[in-house]
Order: sequence, then structure tokens, then C-alpha cells
Amino acid sequence: MPRTPVVLLALSLGALLQAQAPFPPTAPAPSPVPVMKDYPDTPAGKLLREIKEHAEVVARVEYLSDLIGPRLTGSDRLRQAQAWAKAEMTRLGAVNVHEEAYDFGLAWTRGVDSARLLTHNGLRFRVDQLAWTPATKGAVKGELILVDARTLQELQAFKGQLRNKILLRTNPDDKRPPLGRRGGDMEAYQAEQASMMQFLLDEGALATLAMSGRKNGLGFASGGPGRDPKKPALPAAYVPQEPYKMLVRLLARKEPVKLELSLGGTYSAAPVQAYNLVGEIPGREKPGEVVIVGGHLDSWDLGTGATDNATGSSVALEVLRALQATGLKPRRTLRVVLWSGEEQGLLGSRAYAEAHKADLDAIQAVLVHDMGTGMVKGFTLQGRENCRGLMAQAIAPLNDLGVKELSLRTMNSTDHAPFDRAGVPAFAAIQEPVDYFLGTHHSQMDFPDHVVPEQLVQGAQALAVTAWELAEMEARLPHGRPVRPAGPAAPSGRP
Ligand SMILES: [Zn+2]
Repeated sequence: MPRTPVVLLALSLGALLQAQAPFPPTAPAPSPVPVMKDYPDTPAGKLLREIKEHAEVVARVEYLSDLIGPRLTGSDRLRQAQAWAKAEMTRLGAVNVHEEAYDFGLAWTRGVDSARLLTHNGLRFRVDQLAWTPATKGAVKGELILVDARTLQELQAFKGQLRNKILLRTNPDDKRPPLGRRGGDMEAYQAEQASMMQFLLDEGALATLAMSGRKNGLGFASGGPGRDPKKPALPAAYVPQEPYKMLVRLLARKEPVKLELSLGGTYSAAPVQAYNLVGEIPGREKPGEVVIVGGHLDSWDLGTGATDNATGSSVALEVLRALQATGLKPRRTLRVVLWSGEEQGLLGSRAYAEAHKADLDAIQAVLVHDMGTGMVKGFTLQGRENCRGLMAQAIAPLNDLGVKELSLRTMNSTDHAPFDRAGVPAFAAIQEPVDYFLGTHHSQMDFPDHVVPEQLVQGAQALAVTAWELAEMEARLPHGRPVRPAGPAAPSGRP
């Protein structure tokens, strides 16, 4: 008798605990931030102390996330965020605060998305429309078909089978090796994608669904191919893994599976401009030479963009605040740039690098913070071995805070990359991942709840001191193509 109730109690308690957790754990707990016992009486020490004791980074993330909200490029909310950040920059002592416009194309606004099975269990489940794809214009009803073709040739096998169908474009059981990168020929890849889309349109397909890459019911935001109005596109959405895999199981029963799908995104009537926001503390001795610190103010729109990238934007503003509070004036100009259009392909930073191409030689370095809340462990050298010595000197005051890593790796997925490609020493902060790539990044979980204050404060300390040291040092970081050491190439991708 006593055994059964104990087991039952344990089971139900376990179930209860699970049910109460807002999200199942997605990542190991972050490493503790090293504690610095005292701060040296140097400019770096003053910045470290000021930020540790008075940082406003978390309050800024909450303001951007809770009060302004999702900041899709081209949206009114991003404009509100820019107006707010402009006022913040001015309040924090920056001068020459201004916006720089670039042509963005059509804006896109998320509508109401819904999906419901019309057969089997009748489940309603989450769908998130890919931004910059057309709406379904009301609910469409169609049978599902699994179309896991990855090339135009494979797709042609489905000729005659797609009319009025909703296509599942991910096969979760796909065991085929990934397709090669086709020699890195991006144009050929894009041309084939466009031909595949035209095939689906010609065949009369209704919409496409893909499986979210995130586990535990998380959706995923991304952009579709329709930013160019000349390129036709189908309505498309991501489905979280659990309902998506259910749809695949139902199809495997060889019975018709029918869905009602409504995707409500809308385009603006006319192309819009997008903006980068710039503010600076002029250099006391070399005002014509510049250290840039940046993050992107734009975000996706399933959550409120707290860790992608209100965090990096807030860190960049904190650098201004710490300089103002300590009264420190850098030898070179310290410029903060809050980019936009990052999520649509680094559009803002590309536009900035292009517009300032005559002045790129004057940039000492570009530093970007865009991997969520996690503490900074170092910077990607992007293959620039010849910058290692000076970067090591710049981060030396931060070694006791855990900032030690200078990886030769190249990271291409955030706003330093267009500068790096143009020959400017430009580095991404290597951060503790916390739950970024498993959880908050592009998902509906991206809220300030996932910001770890002590980790983000350390990040602000790291960016402020590295920028200060780079602005102060006598030497200039070498520009030009990366100079790698002899030996095998370092891997590229995420640090
Ligand atoms: Zn980002």
C-alpha cells in the first residue's frame, strides 16, 4: 500500500513542476561572471567601476522591449526606438547625433496568423508567417503534401501534384547529407531558389510551411524572398516542431490531411527609407580617427527583441553614459552607431560602410555586441592575426573579468562584417551563449526575462574598456585583407 501513493506523488509532483516552468530548460546555466575585487586607478578602472555600480543597461533593454516593443525595420516602432535612442544619446553627452537614411524597400507588418486541422484531431496550432511573404488573403483550405525537394530538379518530380495544396517543405526525417554550398556561388543559388518558387506558383500551390529550428514549442521569425516585389512569392510560415512533426506523422498514414491556414502580413503601399543612428564623443587629440561601437536597434517581431538586440544597443549607449559619468575624453573619436535592417541581411551596416567608403581608413576599429545577454569572453579576430598584439593590449585591463579570448575565427552574421570585408579591423564580441541560440534568438521567447543583469553589465564593461583602449593607444590597427598565420585555415561561422 504505501509504495504506490509515494510513486504517484513523485510522478505528479514532477509533472506539476514541469507544468509550472514557463519554458523547459533550453541551455545550461551561464558561467558565473568573475568578480574584480578592486579597480585600478586608471581610466579603464574608472570605467569598470562606474559601469559596475551605476549601469543602466537592463533598464534600457526593458524600455526598448516593454514600452516600445518589436522593432521590425520599416516599422513605426523602430522609428519610435530611434527617436528615443537619439534623445538618450544627447542626454548622455554625445554630439553630432543624427540619422543616416538608406533605401530599404517595402515595409511589412505582421497580421494575425492561424492554422487549424480540418481532419484528424482538429488541432489549432501556432504558425508564424515569414516576413516579406504575401498574405493568404483570408483563410485558405488545402490538403497537405510533403515536398522535401531541395533543387529544381528534385522539385520537378512533383509536377501535377501541387494544385491547391499546402506544402510541408521540411522533412524532419531527412537523412540525406546536406547539399554542398555549390562552390559558394550565391547568385546561382538565388537564381535556383527563384526558379523553384516560380515552379510552385505555376503549379498552383497555396502556401508553404517549414519546421521551426527551435525546440520546445518555439516559433521562429525569418524573412521570405518577397522583399523584392519583382520576385513573386507564396505565403509561407514556420510551425513549431511538435505540431509540425504531428502533421508529418499524419501524412505518413497515407490519409488526406487538410488544413485551414490564414496568414495576414501586409506590405506598405510604397518603398520606405530606413535609418542608422549615429552619435559621438569627439576625440581630444585625433578627432578624425574613430572607434565605432555598435549594435542593431531593429529586431524580429515574435517577442520584443530584448536579446536581439536591445542588449547590444543598450551596451553601446552605456559606453556613452560611462564616458560622461567619468568625464573621460578619448584621444580618438568614440562613435556609437545603432544600425537597422540587420535582420534582413546587415542592410544598415552595409549602407553605412558604403556611404562612408571614403572615410573607412579613419576607422581604428569597429566593435559589435550582438549575441544576446551573455558575458563577453573576447572578440573574433576575423583572421586578422596582425591585429592580435594590439587587441590583446586593448583587452588586458579586462582579463580578470574573463575577457581573454582572441579567436582567429570569422563571424559574418552581424554588423561588423561589412567593415571587415572592406578591410577595416572590425570584431564581434564572443559572448557566453546563455539561452540565445537555443531559445531567445528570433523566437517568441525574446523578452527581458532572459536578460541576466550581471552578464550584460560585464558586456558593457568589456565594450567600454576595449573601445577606450583602442581610442587611446598610440598605434593604429593594421587595415587591409586579413593576415593569417601559416597553417590550416581557421573555421568560419559563429564564434
Ligand atoms: Zn542580432
